[in-house]
Amino acid sequence: MSVGTAGVSLSHDDAGGGRAYEEPLVSGPIPGPRSAELLARQDARESGARTYPRRLRIAIARAQGSYVEDLDGNVFIDFLNGAGSLPLGHSHPELLEAIQEQLMKFQHGLDFPTEIRDEYISMHMSLLPTEMQGRTKIGFCGPTGANAIEAALKLCKTATGRSEVISFHGGYHGGSHGAMAVSGLVSQKAPVGGQMPGVHFFPYPYELRSPLRSDDGRSLGARCAEYLSQSLRDPLGGVPLPAAVLVECVQGEGGVVPASTDFIRGIREVTRELDIPLIVDEVQSGCGRTGTWFAFEQHGIVPDVIVASKAAGGLGMPVALILYDERLDKWQAGAHTGTFRGNQVAFAAGLKAMEIIQRDSVLDNVREMGEVALAALQELADRHPVVGEARGSGLMLGFEMVDPVTGDPNGDAARNVQRLAIERGLIVELGGRDDAVVRLLPPLNVSRRTLDQALAILAEAVALTASAWALN
Ligand code: PMP
Repeated sequence: MSVGTAGVSLSHDDAGGGRAYEEPLVSGPIPGPRSAELLARQDARESGARTYPRRLRIAIARAQGSYVEDLDGNVFIDFLNGAGSLPLGHSHPELLEAIQEQLMKFQHGLDFPTEIRDEYISMHMSLLPTEMQGRTKIGFCGPTGANAIEAALKLCKTATGRSEVISFHGGYHGGSHGAMAVSGLVSQKAPVGGQMPGVHFFPYPYELRSPLRSDDGRSLGARCAEYLSQSLRDPLGGVPLPAAVLVECVQGEGGVVPASTDFIRGIREVTRELDIPLIVDEVQSGCGRTGTWFAFEQHGIVPDVIVASKAAGGLGMPVALILYDERLDKWQAGAHTGTFRGNQVAFAAGLKAMEIIQRDSVLDNVREMGEVALAALQELADRHPVVGEARGSGLMLGFEMVDPVTGDPNGDAARNVQRLAIERGLIVELGGRDDAVVRLLPPLNVSRRTLDQALAILAEAVALTASAWALN
């Protein structure tokens, strides 16, 4: 989909007012005194369900490009990236301009047509694979990934008249009750009883820890797909024909686990043969994150439903949507309502981001920087037995910390790497089993310079962690 020339300075790390962020700079303990004050106030007043500031102990003052500055003047490389919702980094000047222009014109439009909404839709449709164009409908949901997952499930249940859903071990689809029920991670992160019934979990091709093994020359991906296929076709398999199969092509929260092509093709084959809608959750992997507009494109399949959010709002602006085959459009007016289904500012930011991503060939940058980063992380895995594996696709990257003796997930080591990294000026998130995977979500336009800075910090944090574990 790209035009233009890649490579030239794509990122916008200029802090404005004559200041530019060029490198991370931490000049004291984390948290510093001003951050500590706000963190304490937050601890006292905010919900026990809050997450990021529990381990990333900073209060944020401002941010630009790939960098954030805390209240104490420390500057960090931000590879948490608003959980993947800032495709071109923080405060991108062209996105700010688009937002400001729209803000002065019209802000909240329910689901009335507007020009900016119409342009946003046209742009999204134009980025779909050709086979999907002309027969795809778009639905805007309440502006979270979880709400769009709910919409996708309801759409498929309505269209098929069936009630069961198939999901995969390690999958994550959101924090609302239905989205949680189809998430494998739920038992670890949010043990809420009384989940939505009718969800069946199947193995995902996670090489490091799969209960299935590749054999007879067949890959693990093929085995997982075959297992699903046999269970669905077996009259004694105990799994009724489902309303949908829901999958992430790269599991994000599950620990950055890319699925293999034979798995994705295998589940597409069985779902097509049995007339089961295939939903791909591209909330995290979509909008360029893995080097193609959507991750499923790399496997040469066409899904029935795509779920997108996060980066679709350009600059962390709230939008969530489903793109689906028109034959599924059987639901009635009001079947999936929501007050916030028409944030015009999000349309403006999202549209501008898509334009820039095309104009500047940002996806070339994603692929190039992704390769550089994965090679560096693989080197860490080769060098240190405490790093079990490096994985990723495009700029959705991670490495799994393990117990060097047992190979079990080593959340303590990952938390140590995360802490050492932030103390040196790099913000990274964790995920996967026992939070043992260190995850990187750089902006899609990250520069080589910033990436190298981050990789150097990680190399040091991992080396220190490895020697601490060797001494244990
Ligand atoms: N699906 C995937 C793949 C996700 O990564 C997430 C969020 N991490 C969600 C759904 C839920 O999105 P939200 O937090 O916006 O509800």
